[in-house]
Amino acid sequence: MHEQLETLLEMQDLHMQRRALEEGDVREFESGVFDMSVEEALAALEDKISDLERRLTGDVQERYRRVIGSRHRAVVPVLGGVCYGCFVAVPTSWASESDPNAKMNVCQNCGRFHYYPP
Ligand SMILES: [Zn+2]
Repeated sequence: MHEQLETLLEMQDLHMQRRALEEGDVREFESGVFDMSVEEALAALEDKISDLERRLTGDVQERYRRVIGSRHRAVVPVLGGVCYGCFVAVPTSWASESDPNAKMNVCQNCGRFHYYPP
């Protein structure tokens, strides 16, 4: 898999985790099971996200910020030749490559990054 794509997937995962915490999915924290407060957990997530973001090249970083700002997911799967961000068919030439994840693919319709689940 393209190293930038892998980084994007990790970042997205952290963003989802952050959203869950911000939206109040904090029962475990409130029950006192962990030695960590929600604020500490969020700060650690922020740190890691910035850390990963520094690994992105300029144009990927810029697109990621733009897409994540306006839409929930910046990286979406392509299944059955359809972008799962906007549900528009993508050119099949990409998917037929031996490893379509080896390069960065961007949806020409919605602008999200594509990845092809194995
Ligand atoms: Zn799309």
